[in-house]
Amino acid sequence: MSAENATKRDIRALDLQALKAFFAQHNQQAFRANQVYQWLWQKGAHHFDEMTNLSKSTRELLDTHFVINHIAVDRQQRSSDQTIKNAIRLHDGLTVESVLIPTETRSTACVSSQVGCSLDCTFCATSQLKRMRNLNPDEIYDQVMALDRQSQLYFGRPLSNIVFMGMGEPLMNYKNVIAAVERITEGLGLSPKRITISTSGIPKMIEKLADENPRFQLAVSLHSAREKVRNQIMPFSTSFDLETLQKSLQYWYQLTRSKITFEYLIWKGINDTQQDIEALVAYCKRVPSKVNIIEYNPTDFGDFEGADQKVIEAYKMALERARITVTVRRSRGKDIDAACGQLANKLIPLES
Ligand code: SAH
Repeated sequence: MSAENATKRDIRALDLQALKAFFAQHNQQAFRANQVYQWLWQKGAHHFDEMTNLSKSTRELLDTHFVINHIAVDRQQRSSDQTIKNAIRLHDGLTVESVLIPTETRSTACVSSQVGCSLDCTFCATSQLKRMRNLNPDEIYDQVMALDRQSQLYFGRPLSNIVFMGMGEPLMNYKNVIAAVERITEGLGLSPKRITISTSGIPKMIEKLADENPRFQLAVSLHSAREKVRNQIMPFSTSFDLETLQKSLQYWYQLTRSKITFEYLIWKGINDTQQDIEALVAYCKRVPSKVNIIEYNPTDFGDFEGADQKVIEAYKMALERARITVTVRRSRGKDIDAACGQLANKLIPLES
């Protein structure tokens, strides 16, 4: 970054009102603000000279006051199952990862919300990075736009779904994630119903979110409905007991009428007993929910081992008997460390 640019403000930190105020201050018509806003948040412009319906002098005015900080796709890796992992360079040189997951009919973008993560889930590679900083709304928006372009280019269709299941804990970057979702739904014309925020479960923030009556989906990484076990694998959860989490989810459902998805990993010797199964069924019965059993993806550390198939089957049967919808999800992009819990900014070679 040049010294000159370091003193300029990032224009995407301004909302529409602030943009209008800027133009008023510089004796320009208010509709200019709308035009600029559209360029920034609908067309995803990264340079003022792309804004072709503005006069040269207006573009120069913007250029003397602002920069447009933006991401760059640094490296790309493609899995044998077509999943694409992107290393995304941020304007300050830090890196996050975003993954495009295509199926026959869908293209799902898995985006990051923080650089690293402040939580300490022992089975997740991202937790090893620690939290370096929150992503800004524009950095989240840019990831989605980049993946949308990739989806059009490689699979001939726009994104159909977005999941906040990349690096970071979205509810620990609450304000920016909400702002990004707004911009994304506006900019891509994507229904919020197709967006899922995945959280490790922070009760206060879930309630705050419910109060805003959002229209997107909520997923909670549960992994155990037994306090002791959950505290062991997700140590931060000692501050957020299962009962309080349950109450916040009931509150969420009351206000949004939207079912919660519990994400659930099953490991040998950790949560593979009948007692674990019964605890999960009992927990699910108390709030309208469904369960996604996710295949465990090994990371470079920790002694976790995925449970046997017959345990997964036992979970599935017990949930179905209780009339709780359950799906067993196979992981995608495993061969390139792009699967859930494997995002850790490992050095990857440039695509040849
Ligand atoms: N912090 C958020 C979102 C990021 S993690 C959350 O916790 O929900 C996205 C999902 O991947 C979570 O359900 C997480 O528990 C899961 N995950 C983490 N490590 C994993 C691993 N090694 N294998 C499979 N899934 C993993």
